[in-house]
Amino acid sequence: MREAPHTDLAEIPDAVARLRSAYDSGRTRPLAWRRQQLEGIKAMCTDRAEEFVEALRADFGKPPLEAIAMDVYQGKTEAAGALRNLKKWTRPQRIGPIPLIGRSFVLREPLGVALIISPWNYPIGLLLSPLVGAIAAGNAVMLKPSEVTPHTSAALARFIPDYLDPEAIALVEGGVPETTALLEEHFDHIFYTGNGHVGRVVMEAAAKNLTPVTLELGGKSPCLVDREVDIATTAQRIAWGKFVNAGQTCIAPDYVLVHRDREEELVGALEAVTRGFYGEDPKAAPDYARVVNGRHCERLAKLLESGSPAFGGEVDAEQNYIAPTVLRNVDLDSPIMQEEIFGPILPVLAVEDMDEAIRIVNTRDKPLALYVFTENEAVYEKVLRETSSGGACVNGTLMHIMDARAPFGGVGPSGQGAYHGRYSFETFSHRKTVLKRGFRMDLKFLYPPYSDRKRRIAQRFM
Ligand code: NAD
Repeated sequence: MREAPHTDLAEIPDAVARLRSAYDSGRTRPLAWRRQQLEGIKAMCTDRAEEFVEALRADFGKPPLEAIAMDVYQGKTEAAGALRNLKKWTRPQRIGPIPLIGRSFVLREPLGVALIISPWNYPIGLLLSPLVGAIAAGNAVMLKPSEVTPHTSAALARFIPDYLDPEAIALVEGGVPETTALLEEHFDHIFYTGNGHVGRVVMEAAAKNLTPVTLELGGKSPCLVDREVDIATTAQRIAWGKFVNAGQTCIAPDYVLVHRDREEELVGALEAVTRGFYGEDPKAAPDYARVVNGRHCERLAKLLESGSPAFGGEVDAEQNYIAPTVLRNVDLDSPIMQEEIFGPILPVLAVEDMDEAIRIVNTRDKPLALYVFTENEAVYEKVLRETSSGGACVNGTLMHIMDARAPFGGVGPSGQGAYHGRYSFETFSHRKTVLKRGFRMDLKFLYPPYSDRKRRIAQRFM
């Protein structure tokens, strides 16, 4: 296994100071600079696609199609969208006149030097997508990719300085010591994607400097299956959402709550679909990823003990392989139902009706995503109304993340803040409200000394 590359700890304060000087010099503010960097991201994702795909395969066997479509091109698509909209986003936003006083408008100004800390499961897209927002808003940026995927981290460290302005966009490689050292520095925004335990560490460090944070966290995203559904399509969409990237997706369906009358059928359909995806022996399938490392493989192997596999269940620790698995006879109090699974194991639990499913969801932390499968409009409307989640998808999984016109983010323990498209730009911008007044009109009654007459005028006009 490749050792995680890391930056010399002693270099970190200087590297941050250089970004601060670059920002203070005004270098990152012109739209021309922002455009150049966004073009750089697009070019890097295109020119270096093969190298990135290879690094992702070396790190955890990510299949090339998943690597390109869901990881490498995420940043490219976001950059293309930002380039198309940059002028519109950065234009002063007119609010309009306030009679007798003036006109107000809102300016977007960059925050300063931003820190982006990203995880290993989509290690390119989850670094580059927020970077697009930070650049579009005119910030200098420090990047910290995950050390858990060392080949990808090394590839990013190698290519980013070739395509982006090294004076204003820097990258630190490494794990806990390097991130801890970064968190001791002063940033103007911290954008963190990863698990909630580290989210708390980040927020605590940020509090010292009153630095705003965006936390893109995880959680147990439930998948509710009603009695009235097309089981074959439902199974197809659930199995894809769960087993893509071997279940290591923040919005993967974590567990299924299915109407008791359809449980057997759903489990059978999930098995058939999974065989269709990966054949009789998923270990030999080129389109099935591995668990990222031995520690996670061991953790997941233990979770298999929480129920009985309807299919799958094989573990090969040598290869960090866990078969795509559906687990039955799972108790709500069992270990697999406590923490986010983040692997290719899908517990399927039967419920009497969707009311029971809603009650189960509501006894737990607010999830990052919620999926509901039903042909009945009243059912999904009720589920959406009576539950809270970062996002949701009706009759599908994962795909709500694809619409860059909409915000993506968690709620409560699954995160705070949101990004994608314009929302990324807003996340890294300060909205400065400006009121512009003329010299002619004035509200004289507001000036002391106050009188009864002035008070009467104030009562009428304010
Ligand atoms: P990870 O282990 O790569 O950690 C994320 C980052 O935090 C890394 O850059 C790592 O170096 C840093 N880090 C780790 N420990 C630290 C510490 N003690 N102090 C400071 N920094 C530290 O990734 P992970 O957390 O295992 O990622 C998986 C989690 O991320 C899951 O919970 C998943 O749901 C969530 N996730 C959320 C989203 C989203 O968009 N909301 C996307 C992907 C993953």
